[in-house]
Amino acid sequence: MPRETTEAKAARTKKIIAGLRKTYPDAHCELNHSNPLELLIATILSAQCTDKRVNLVTAELFKKFRSATDYAQADAAQLEQDIRTAGFFRNKAKSIRTCCQALVEKHGGQVPRTMEELITLGGVGRKTANVVLGNAFDINIGVVVDTHVARLSQRLGLTRQKDPAKIEQDLMQLVPQQQWTLFSHWLIWHGRRRCYARKPDCPNCEIKSLCPRIGVPGKNPKSE
Ligand code: SF4
Repeated sequence: MPRETTEAKAARTKKIIAGLRKTYPDAHCELNHSNPLELLIATILSAQCTDKRVNLVTAELFKKFRSATDYAQADAAQLEQDIRTAGFFRNKAKSIRTCCQALVEKHGGQVPRTMEELITLGGVGRKTANVVLGNAFDINIGVVVDTHVARLSQRLGLTRQKDPAKIEQDLMQLVPQQQWTLFSHWLIWHGRRRCYARKPDCPNCEIKSLCPRIGVPGKNPKSE
């Protein structure tokens, strides 16, 4: 594909957004939660784990732990057992306890609403903070870049970067701020339902006419 001008890329991004919005009108965060604290805990658990698995774990966990104080005072070994099946359970249990201790000590047990405050809680990085701000508080401060968002942004030619922080910066330039949270959901939904990591379903893709398929193995499938 010849080098695209910034204007052409912005116009194409607009069409990609329209296509994904039409395809996934109900796109949303697939981690079950009923308040900001639950979403924070679910997001910490979601590292290297499927949302489906996290939802199984939190279905029981959220019945036992209702507040930041509950997690902060939890017995470490018991909490590890409770989240064991989400993987990396020792690190995750430590992150949850550290983070909730900070919530209790510095924020009256409430989840703060700014990026600066969130990323100073132990175990919370920019991606987790973006998930919480966008989905619990409806605050668009950045774009969540997970494995799907990174892969699709590259295939769609919206970034040449590999580092999530740099991909996020490219996407923030291209996508209107009020759509940052939704844009990430649209890419995640498309990544789970069509643009698979190993074998993307390009022939049936709803936005194939807008996609240069950068780095996709076996471009130009016969069935198109
Ligand atoms: S055309 Fe293929 S590579 Fe491009 S978004 Fe669709 S499924 Fe993914």
